[in-house]
Amino acid sequence: MSSDRRFRGPIDLHTHSRVSDGTESPAELVRAAATAGLGTVALTDHDSTAGWGEAAAEAEAVGITLIPGMELSTRIGWSSVHLLAYLFDPVDADLIDATARLREARLLRAEQMVERISRDYDVTWDDVLAQTEPGATVGRPHIADALVARGLAPDRSAAFAGILHWRAGYYQPHDAPEPLEAVRLVVAAGGVPVIAHPATRSRADMQLEPVIGELVDAGLFGLEIDHRENTPEGRVRLQHLATRYGLALTGSSDYHGEGKPNRLGENTTSPEVLEAIIARASGSSPVYPASSF
Ligand code: AMP
Ligand code: FE
Ligand code: FE
Ligand code: ZN
Repeated sequence: MSSDRRFRGPIDLHTHSRVSDGTESPAELVRAAATAGLGTVALTDHDSTAGWGEAAAEAEAVGITLIPGMELSTRIGWSSVHLLAYLFDPVDADLIDATARLREARLLRAEQMVERISRDYDVTWDDVLAQTEPGATVGRPHIADALVARGLAPDRSAAFAGILHWRAGYYQPHDAPEPLEAVRLVVAAGGVPVIAHPATRSRADMQLEPVIGELVDAGLFGLEIDHRENTPEGRVRLQHLATRYGLALTGSSDYHGEGKPNRLGENTTSPEVLEAIIARASGSSPVYPASSF
């Protein structure tokens, strides 16, 4: 079947729901993707697959293609690197174990950050819980929502630029596997790994380049080049890396609902690259709309 038939409309391979730090339920997100005119959307919540079922049911109902995915947290030293993973087996025991540990580490770290912030500002852990869906992967966005609810910041972005910024003195990293371990986990679960926003001017980006070779040897598939946070100079470097190592290039929005200015479909991935992701994957299948067959 040709790509044009299978993938009608733009392809956005990076979005978040309330299962992690987005502001919409998985079903609302999939509906928003259909309304935005996308033909394919990937749900890539941080360190969780809990939204897959709800998103799949809604994708079938509204007639768009869903690519089940996840954005795995990894670290080089204490700098954070995100790894997108597509179409892996959601019941792979090692991956389940790794993501459970990651959610636990994120919870501990958020509690510690809030403890520090509460010494200077009137905000409590209960305020954060009130902003967080039970079972969700907790992150700074939930602390941001608590600060907003307390009138300590006008919105999430302002909270990130202020109290939650690492320079403000409350920031704390969380434990996570190294990128190489994460790539191996994803590949072992039949998934396809792509490094998320690898050129954002962060310390981790500079530490990533020397290890790309070993990540490729372990099965790294691509780099997310078209992402609003990648710098123009960084994109040129990513292009060179892709050519040198034979990596695919993706583009996506990193939509978080109302939590971030990123709009669905603001960056997209070509049907050819998506076909290659699907051809490589063996852990799970896309959810196609009935009308495409
Ligand atoms: P954390 O992983 O807990 O350190 O928090 C960083 C996460 O917050 C990333 O996934 C960002 O995409 C997300 N985020 C959500 N909304 C915002 C925002 N308005 N500004 C910056 N980051 C945001
Ligand atoms: Fe996020
Ligand atoms: Fe990310
Ligand atoms: Zn993301």
